[in-house]
Amino acid sequence: MSLVNCPECNHQISSSARTCPNCGFKVKSNKGCFMWGLVIIGLLILLFFIVGQLGRKMNGSYYDKSTNEYLGNWKEPTSQELREIGIIMSKNNIHGCGEYYVQKYTLSTYVIACTSDGYTWNYYFYTPTSGKIIATTLDTFTPPR
Ligand SMILES: [Zn+2]
Repeated sequence: MSLVNCPECNHQISSSARTCPNCGFKVKSNKGCFMWGLVIIGLLILLFFIVGQLGRKMNGSYYDKSTNEYLGNWKEPTSQELREIGIIMSKNNIHGCGEYYVQKYTLSTYVIACTSDGYTWNYYFYTPTSGKIIATTLDTFTPPR
């Protein structure tokens, strides 16, 4: 416990005092504010976590992470992502790909690059919200490797 000056009468009072014993001024407890701040930040983090989990559950896919950490860069899919891509591709009757790379194209569209021989790459636009895959002949993409 330390002594602080009352902002009203400048009388020295205990830092834990809620009111000044000299003039009756209501001293705000900084400690209380700090604790409430921590509680609110904690609740916000929890809220973000819950919303994130719900979003992931509803879309059921890694594609819906709203980060654009690999926007414009090819990313080698993890084994789980590879499974998901395989399912998406076969649902859309695209077969014969042995190797995949993905990159974010826009916030809601991905490009899946696939090759069957390691030289020729085919590119597909994929929109997770509609589940649609559209083959593209755009040659603006640089091969993943
Ligand atoms: Zn006072």
